[in-house]
Amino acid sequence: MIKIVFIGPPGSGKGTHARMLSLDMGIPLVSLGDIIRDEVERKTKLGKKAEGYIKRGELVPDTTVAKIFLSHLPDSFILDGFPRNVYQAETLDKFGVNIVVHLSIEPESLIQRIANRRICPKCKRVYNLVCNPPGEDEICDVCKVKLITREDDEEEVVRKRMEVYKKETETLVNYYRKKDILIELDTGDSIEKVHKRILDAVRSRTE
Ligand code: AMP
Repeated sequence: MIKIVFIGPPGSGKGTHARMLSLDMGIPLVSLGDIIRDEVERKTKLGKKAEGYIKRGELVPDTTVAKIFLSHLPDSFILDGFPRNVYQAETLDKFGVNIVVHLSIEPESLIQRIANRRICPKCKRVYNLVCNPPGEDEICDVCKVKLITREDDEEEVVRKRMEVYKKETETLVNYYRKKDILIELDTGDSIEKVHKRILDAVRSRTE
């Protein structure tokens, strides 16, 4: 079983690279942010509990996240957005994690990336109007529907999300470094180059 986790600040490319790796390796992608947004859209009980936290850029409480997360976990997985704190990392340890990919990027680039980020409401693909634009103006290449901006990509909320990352999630880098399962990469280069580096590093640890 291959169990891979992506961590990194908002805008570092977790969603994009987790999806590309999932397609290349044929391992299911589990994106907690996408799953929670879907629960919010469908106005489920869990979605109603999560909505305010997402809008404010805060973490959804662990008990709510755990319920959502545990019901979506296949045998092999690539995880984007979980764990986000030590408690969640300890929960995940019970399932065994082989590889953790930590993506980093210059803080100045993060703001620019997020401001230009658009997502497909249907397939959840992530685009960037500058460095990864769709073929047709703001239309998903695959689903052909109009791309949208994430509500929590508004500047003030992004600042809050970065603060939360620094306070809660960054400490996981050390947590996984100690376990010797960490791959660390800067995502300042082109998407293709970074993807190839991730793929090579993951393959060298799994083959
Ligand atoms: P993302 O799409 O990964 O940037 O996640 C968007 C938002 O969903 C976050 O800002 C949180 O409010 C919530 N969220 C996603 N994953 C988690 C998690 N593991 N724990 C708590 N909240 C989460």
